[in-house]
Amino acid sequence: MSFKDLHLIKPLLKAVEASGYAEPTLVQQRSIPLVLEGKDVIVSAQTGTGKTAAFALPILQKLYDKQDAPKKGKKIRALIVSPTRELAVQIQQNFKTYAEFTNLTSLVVFGGTSIEPQIDVLKKGVDILVATPGRLLDLHKQDYINLDYIETLVLDEADLMLDMGFIDDIKKIERLCPKEKQSLLFSATIPFKIEDLANTILKDPERIDV
Ligand code: AMP
Repeated sequence: MSFKDLHLIKPLLKAVEASGYAEPTLVQQRSIPLVLEGKDVIVSAQTGTGKTAAFALPILQKLYDKQDAPKKGKKIRALIVSPTRELAVQIQQNFKTYAEFTNLTSLVVFGGTSIEPQIDVLKKGVDILVATPGRLLDLHKQDYINLDYIETLVLDEADLMLDMGFIDDIKKIERLCPKEKQSLLFSATIPFKIEDLANTILKDPERIDV
């Protein structure tokens, strides 16, 4: 199977080619069609399987397809919640790479560092926000983040987020997003606690195990 067979649009195929990817990985082959269809999905996949592109590419495609004529103030339409600063940074770097031939923009916010530069970029508006839970809630509380326009929510490394004690934060973040949205949950393992979380957040999810 090729990336073309996944019906990715030209700007994304170009970025994938520039990244040197010959063909989609298994998790990409399975996830991309479902995410493009708008389904909620729970995916068990380890880091290293290509799981970031498995959600980033279809999210970019959906945002690209639904773009209005350029207007003032972009709204955040995709939110990716990640447990650690390092993972969050990596995810946003991936988004940036894959979005190179689009005009979609992304930002990463995380705690333990000055909040002002993050606020400055948020004020200009971005399409995609990657965030760790604490800083996200902090910025939301201070009114710098509006989650009313979220179309897709991704919970990445969900098992790690639960282990780190972020369960209440995650539930809170989910409730701050619109009810009508697509939710994707990625986790290395799917223990009962994750199934439980998935049952409260995802709607009629498809399950992918790789
Ligand atoms: P991830 O599992 O998202 O952390 O990705 C692991 C690594 O695989 C990253 O360095 C990606 O750039 C790379 N990667 C993602 N998709 C592909 C692909 N289809 N072919 C080759 N490498 C890929």
